[in-house]
Amino acid sequence: MSTVQIKDEFNVYEAADARFEEAVQKLGVEQGVYKYLKHPDKELTMYLPVGMDNGQVEVFTGYRVLHSTVRGPGKGGIRFDKNVTIDEVRALAAWMTWKCAVVNIPFGGAKGGVICEPGKMSKGELERLTRRYTAELGDWLGPERDVPAPDIGTNEQIMAWVMDTYAMHVGQASVAVVTGKPVDLGGSRGRREATGRGCLINCDKALARLRMKREGTRVVIQGFGNVGSMAALLMYMAGYKVVGLADIHGGLYNEKGFDVPAVMDWVYTQRKPLPEFSGGGARMDQQEILFQPCDILLPAAIENQITSKNAQRVQAKILCEGANGPTTAAADEILLQKDVFVIPDILANAGGVTVSYFEWVQDRQGFFWRESEVNERLQDFIEQAFDGVVDAAENFKVRNRIGAYIVAIERVAKALKLRGIYA
Ligand code: NAD
Repeated sequence: MSTVQIKDEFNVYEAADARFEEAVQKLGVEQGVYKYLKHPDKELTMYLPVGMDNGQVEVFTGYRVLHSTVRGPGKGGIRFDKNVTIDEVRALAAWMTWKCAVVNIPFGGAKGGVICEPGKMSKGELERLTRRYTAELGDWLGPERDVPAPDIGTNEQIMAWVMDTYAMHVGQASVAVVTGKPVDLGGSRGRREATGRGCLINCDKALARLRMKREGTRVVIQGFGNVGSMAALLMYMAGYKVVGLADIHGGLYNEKGFDVPAVMDWVYTQRKPLPEFSGGGARMDQQEILFQPCDILLPAAIENQITSKNAQRVQAKILCEGANGPTTAAADEILLQKDVFVIPDILANAGGVTVSYFEWVQDRQGFFWRESEVNERLQDFIEQAFDGVVDAAENFKVRNRIGAYIVAIERVAKALKLRGIYA
């Protein structure tokens, strides 16, 4: 049982901080290290003027938070969404530090966001916003400083504009400044699928621990973007039964299991709304899908979906957090009482940043790997991270989430002690 108090259950920064506090107490980190790791290194707020297609100028608010560079350059996505807040970006930046440390890749943590509605902007407006954001970041960016990647509302094309803008400013191609780029521009094979593949590898590990088999294991997935759709496809191909899907437009439940390639075709080729999929299923609200009968629940959309108000209704045996922060700290306690095996976000969705690391390595080498090599190495990293987290949870007699924080904080604290404090 956690003794850390939270004022606002839905403030994700408080949620991240509460877990950090709990892990630090268990680990017994010394005061100086604790104070250092509790705060981000630096934060930037930008007001970004963009010429819109209608001839008017719009000013967008953008953020970048560099949480830590103790173990390497900052690493973390850029989110384009109307609900972005500085607290959200702070939380996501801290989670990146812990995530990179959990999978033991040589990065710190960072995150960026712009308050905007990308779905309502033209390609030209998005390009101008992205270039202005990148230009304003200036010296903050660089392959040895801070390396962004895609997140909600951003994609490979946007990463290509980030790279090009940075390249124009520094007068070098510098492809390693950003990851999640198109393969034709220094991107890594397997990056697009990587976060979903990481979820699959984690679920396989959890099944092995719980002595379950893939065949017939029912999966419900909320979110059908990069993470959710790839997790659905890869799990379907691996023999899991995907019985529930949802996106921003609503949810669909089919106990017989979906033909996921057909749903992919419906949503991504035919561009039709997911809940209207012709293959059948019961339509429902996008949050209701979380409480349908299943063995694995895989939230892959937004934060604060499983809360103190609804966690009791979760029917799954395994919760694999494809999204960042889908579970509130108060809901953690309920899931623990219900004996749900939680694969926490900083482990569950770490496949993306792991292959981003591979992309950065390949860009710096100027030598690109086969997709099978990428996937094999990803499997090694995730399996080792999973074992490390579960072992830490057992050793410290804590739930998996706190086990993951313990692994991460211990690694970052060790690096910090070796480096010392520069003054
Ligand atoms: P995306 O923009 O590609 O997709 C988001 C999906 O969520 C869309 O299908 C959208 O319709 C759906 N959605 C939005 N609001 C919803 C709601 N209220 N209810 C149900 N569905 C909703 O984003 P993504 O890259 O797939 O990221 C999803 C989550 O995974 C985020 O939490 C992100 O931080 C996290 N994540 C992404 C990556 C990555 O590599 N892309 C890596 C690690 C973690």
